[in-house]
Amino acid sequence: MKILGTKYEIVRKKREDDPKLVENDGYCDPTSKIIVIVDGYTPDINNVSDLSVYDNNVLRHEIIHAFLHESGLRNYSADETLVDWLAVQFPKMLAAFENAECAR
Ligand SMILES: [Zn+2]
Repeated sequence: MKILGTKYEIVRKKREDDPKLVENDGYCDPTSKIIVIVDGYTPDINNVSDLSVYDNNVLRHEIIHAFLHESGLRNYSADETLVDWLAVQFPKMLAAFENAECAR
């Protein structure tokens, strides 16, 4: 996929195959232009019963990191609260934009 004109690869890996996934469900590496998402969640107290919703949220989170990085906004990209808020709220924001006919 392209993020602001830069090609990023999205890869799903088993947690045991990537040390960076030991404590994270995904990560964005802006140096190698790769987004890695854990393949095969084990539900726990930190996630939800609907794993597809959780999985999409994790992917949105990492894509937002990439957008901020490619925008030169590295300080914002380092703000996990901001990035997670955008990832969680974006579908609701998109629905509001579409409802107001200003999504494009
Ligand atoms: Zn993050």
